[in-house]
Amino acid sequence: MTGLAVAARSATSGSPCLDIDLEAIGRNTRLLSERSTGELMAVVKADGFGHGAVDVARTALAHGASRLGVTSLDEAWPLRDAGIRAPLLSWLNPVDADFASATSRDIEVAVPTVAHLEAVARVPGRARIHLHVDAGMARDGAAPDTWAQLCRAARRAEQRGEVEVVGVMGHLGCADDPRDACNTLARTRFAWAIETARSSGLRPGQRHLAATAATLTDPLSHHTMTRVGAGLVGIDPSGSTRLSPAMTLTAPIVSVRRVRAGTPVGYGHTHLTSRPTQLALVPLGYADGLPRSASNRAEVQLRGRRHPVVGTISMDQLVIDLGDRAAEPGETVTVFGPGGAGEPTVADWATWADTIEHEIVTGIGARVRRRVRAVAHLRSLS
Ligand SMILES: *Cc1c(COP(=O)(O)O)cnc(C)c1O
Repeated sequence: MTGLAVAARSATSGSPCLDIDLEAIGRNTRLLSERSTGELMAVVKADGFGHGAVDVARTALAHGASRLGVTSLDEAWPLRDAGIRAPLLSWLNPVDADFASATSRDIEVAVPTVAHLEAVARVPGRARIHLHVDAGMARDGAAPDTWAQLCRAARRAEQRGEVEVVGVMGHLGCADDPRDACNTLARTRFAWAIETARSSGLRPGQRHLAATAATLTDPLSHHTMTRVGAGLVGIDPSGSTRLSPAMTLTAPIVSVRRVRAGTPVGYGHTHLTSRPTQLALVPLGYADGLPRSASNRAEVQLRGRRHPVVGTISMDQLVIDLGDRAAEPGETVTVFGPGGAGEPTVADWATWADTIEHEIVTGIGARVRRRVRAVAHLRSLS
């Protein structure tokens, strides 16, 4: 065995591994917190965009975020179970969600309809709520023609001591393109929503509309707080700012074989080798989050060089074409990383799969081992 192969083998991890870099998340949080004119809410839905909700939450809170946000209450419980006491908002729940536990565990909820308001008002204690307006996506949040009625009902519930309206929230549908006129319309609708709430007698102290893209590009949308998720983990949907990616996915080569020109590869024989070459087998597939639509387009890195993924990506495995390059079973390939050493990035995979980075990072399968690099030298970097 050559010295190179020995060195490479000693660097192997044995199984596919997703490394999470919390220092990168700390850096991103500080940058976003500096850009936000108000408070910063760290959005840790979808398991912290696949990076681990509790780890991302703790890191963000230590580096400039003052609040946390999640989609459903089911995403909120594990944060409280982990002992995180920070203010926490959950904004998308059915009317029969466990609002009693939310209130008793000091979790704020967003209210988009009168039916939700009634459900929240019924629970013991006084629920802290954010009224949620649709700022122009026809998605979650109250439809504009229901908003005034929702505000009046919330004010009556507040006067009865059933709820406390602590916030008004909206969401931007086109913030990744700051020049899109839809942003102006959404800001106008949000301003109207706040006015309507105030004229109903409400005094919402938290008013929040912007997510990552608008935090970075549109200060007019910041109000008292911005809610950032993608940016924490290094994704900037506006393409305006260099953030630090926080995920590296590696896997060992299982086997290497020599094949002739014209060898069909994988299901459906979607690739034929064009020359005699070597094929290496990597034990990651679409069940691990590598999109099948990236088949015959994606690349991975081995010994500092990129090699094409050939044939259709299977559920559990993919094949790469090494050409004449030597490789030993057990060596580690980098599927994606921050990109600093020429390896593919999450953004590359998103391009290959015709999707966005969010879908790649939130899709890495549960059977991929996670390894978290904690924040060690962060103070000296600041
Ligand atoms: C996901 C989400 C966010 C965070 O958006 P990013 O673009 O990832 O920062 C903010 N607010 C709401 C309501 C969301 O659903």
